[in-house]
Amino acid sequence: MQLYKIASYFPGFGVNKRQEIERLVYEISKRDKISPEEILNPIDSNNFESVKNRLLKIRFPYASRHNEDIRPHLPKIAIKPANEFNLGDSEFSPARIFIEKSAALSGLKNNFKKSFPEAKFMEISSLKDFIRDDKTSGISSYNKRRDRVFITNEKYDFFKKCPCTKGAAGCGYHIFNLGFGCIFDCTYCYLQEYNNAPGLIFPANIDKFFERFRRYKKPKMRIGTGEFSDSMMLDHITEYSLDIIEFFNNHKDAVFEFKTKSSTIDNILKARHSGNIVISWSLNPKKIIDKNEFFTASLSKRLESAEKCVQAGYKIGFHFDPVIYFNGWEKEYQGVIDLLFSKINPKDIAWISIGTFRFKPELKPIIENRFPENQILDEELLLGYDDKLRYPYGLRCNMYKSLLNSFKKHSRKLPIYLCMEEFKMWKDLNLLRCLGGV
Ligand code: SF4
Repeated sequence: MQLYKIASYFPGFGVNKRQEIERLVYEISKRDKISPEEILNPIDSNNFESVKNRLLKIRFPYASRHNEDIRPHLPKIAIKPANEFNLGDSEFSPARIFIEKSAALSGLKNNFKKSFPEAKFMEISSLKDFIRDDKTSGISSYNKRRDRVFITNEKYDFFKKCPCTKGAAGCGYHIFNLGFGCIFDCTYCYLQEYNNAPGLIFPANIDKFFERFRRYKKPKMRIGTGEFSDSMMLDHITEYSLDIIEFFNNHKDAVFEFKTKSSTIDNILKARHSGNIVISWSLNPKKIIDKNEFFTASLSKRLESAEKCVQAGYKIGFHFDPVIYFNGWEKEYQGVIDLLFSKINPKDIAWISIGTFRFKPELKPIIENRFPENQILDEELLLGYDDKLRYPYGLRCNMYKSLLNSFKKHSRKLPIYLCMEEFKMWKDLNLLRCLGGV
C-alpha cells in the first residue's frame, strides 16, 4: 500500500508516522498474505500511538504475548525491482580478472588463467586506486560482484581478533584475513552490506601472511579464514589450504579452522596434517538451504565431505549459524542433528557453535531488495541488546534449549558454544562453565 493510501486512512498523520504505519502494514500483509485493506479496515482509531500499538501486536505476536521489549526497526520502504538478484547461472565464471602489478607474476594468477581462459585479464596499479576510480556501487553492483576477481598483494590487513558484538560473550577467535567476498549467495549474508568491495579479492602473497603470523601468534589460539569469505569455495584454484596446512604443521600449538558450505575438499584430503586443523561446515535444514543458501553444496554433500575429512584424520566442526525460525523449525533442526550423528562420531568433533539469525538494521533493506520473496524477514526480528535485529529473547532461548537437548541425545560431552550471544543467555542456558572452553 502506498503512502498516499495510508494518508486516506489517517489524514492527520505526518510523513514519518505514515511511513511507520506503511512499513508495519507492508510487513503484516507480506507475511500473512492479506491485503492492506484487510489489516486497516478493522482499525477505528485515529490516534497514532493506538494504531501503531495495534499493528505492533499483530506484527510481533510472540514478543507482545511474552511482554518482551518491542523495539522495531521500521525504515521507509524502498524496494527497486532492478535490485533483485537473478539466480540465473550458478556456475562461477568471472568475466574480468584484475591483477595488481605487484602480483603479476604470481602462481595464483596462473591458476586463475588456467581455470578461466575466457576471462579478460587486466593489470591494475593497486586495488586501492581501482576502488578510488570505480564508479559502480550499491546493490546492483553487489549483484554483479562474481564477474570481477582481484588478485592482490595484501599489505596491512592480515589478522584480527573477531570483534564479536557489543555486550556478547566472545569465544576468543582470531581471523586470518585471506581474501574477501564469496561466490555463494546467502540471503542473510552480512557481506552484502560491504558495498566498497568491487568484486572478489584473493591475495597472492600468502607467504607474507605466514611471515606476519609468527609475530601475531598467541598461545593456544584458534584462528581461521571464513569470516569474510567461504574458506574452501575455490580451493581447487587458490590452493590456499595446501600452504596453510603445511605452515601449521610447524605451529602445532595453534588450531586453524577452514569454514565452508562447499564440498571442495580434494586438497584437504591429500594434505599431510598434524591434527591441529579443523574443517567445519555451516549446517541448516534442507528447506533453509534451498531458499537461502544459493549455489552452496547440499546438506548431504556437506556431511559426506565431513565424513571424508574424518576418515583423513581431521577434527571437524559444525556451525548451526544462523539458526532460522520458521514454521516447523524444531523438527527440521532435530532432523539435521540426528542426520549429522548418524554419520559422525562425537569424538571427531572439535566444536559446534550455535547462533540464531541476527543482523545489523542496515542489512534489512538490502535483503528486501535482493531477495523480495524471502521469508526470513517475515519472522519477529527486533532490535536486541546490541542493536542488531534478533528474535525476541524468549524465543531465542527456547530455540537454543531445543537444539542443546537434541545434541545431548547424542552426546553430553560436545564442546558447544553460542555465537554472539549475551551473557544472560549463556547463564540461562547453564552454559557459562563452557565459556572459553572450546
Ligand atoms: S557462504 Fe558465507 S560468506 Fe558466502 S554468501 Fe553465504 S554467508 Fe556469505
